[in-house]
Amino acid sequence: MFKSSITIATVSGIPIRLHFSFLLILPFFALVISNNIATIAGMAGVATGDLVVSPFGLGLILAVLLFVSVALHELAHSFVARAQGIGIRDITLMLLGGVAQMEDEIEERGELWMALAGPLFSLLFGGVLLYLLRPATAVLGADVQLVVYYLGFMNVFLAFFNLLPAFPSDGGRVLRSLIARRTNYLQATRIATSIGKIFAFGFAVFGLLTGTIFLILIAFFIYIGASQEYQFNVVRDAFSDFVVSDLMTRDVSTVHRDLTVGELLDRMFAERHSGYPVVNDEGQLVGCVTMYDVQALPEAASRENRVHEIMAHPVISVRPNDDLFSAFKKLSEADIGRLMVVEDGELRGILTRSDIMKAYRLRALRDERARVDM
Ligand SMILES: [Zn+2]
Repeated sequence: MFKSSITIATVSGIPIRLHFSFLLILPFFALVISNNIATIAGMAGVATGDLVVSPFGLGLILAVLLFVSVALHELAHSFVARAQGIGIRDITLMLLGGVAQMEDEIEERGELWMALAGPLFSLLFGGVLLYLLRPATAVLGADVQLVVYYLGFMNVFLAFFNLLPAFPSDGGRVLRSLIARRTNYLQATRIATSIGKIFAFGFAVFGLLTGTIFLILIAFFIYIGASQEYQFNVVRDAFSDFVVSDLMTRDVSTVHRDLTVGELLDRMFAERHSGYPVVNDEGQLVGCVTMYDVQALPEAASRENRVHEIMAHPVISVRPNDDLFSAFKKLSEADIGRLMVVEDGELRGILTRSDIMKAYRLRALRDERARVDM
């Protein structure tokens, strides 16, 4: 999902990736930490005179270790998700922390534990560092003491900050899954989103008053994230009542694989279709040809080519009984306009984006009627 990022490590099959924004924020973090090194030394009970490494060196070490902590936090989420059968595509470290990309939406029941896993890990990790530091201060150098102390402190902070119910934060997800037990998932998302936006507003005001750019950025991401999650859930909810066969177009006009491009263009103009499923002599689906395939041809050769020479090969298909939401996801992920509906190798219909949007309108109409009926 996040392009412009590179894989730096793979932990138990999960690639950990760095987004380019991370490369910008790392020196910035190092600088902020190094400017506050005296305060941090004070908190850690270390005299600044005893430090060997330069403030910027310490800042850089701490900035890197903080992002390692964030990666571990995301791994904790990922392992719990995986234990519940959700595949993890990757973990991306970026501007404001990390994001674990799941292959599927987590089951509603599983969300509570998955959301808690990250903050619980951070709390435990930070707690253990601080706990172990106390008896070890005598043997550790001032620099190590400072690093371990600040890393422990920041992990505990990370745990509590993530637990704020500022949806879509971890705490916001915990809140949603608790609310969802009393009402439905969409309603719970709506409530959690509103609370998230209140937090975003609060962060933004506080950030503006105190001149903390970081808080303003966080506020912005919470606001956008909350809105997106809500819309996603509205769509999912609208689609959950339908299967593919409810909305697909059944009488599909197909073209034969040996048709020439010239004949194909004539059909496209006559029937005003921008794409056709391609069939063989036995009437079986062998591919799909669209306007784009024709446009991609070098002009000279185009009209005499056969359809099977220019068609897109791997046909992306769904089954008539697949739910509409998974069809919608397939369409979006492949970024295509139509899905072939196939059963036992035979073409049953085709499902376009506008067919899917019908579900949206039907649902809105039904909700309206339900309101009238009350
Ligand atoms: Zn988290």
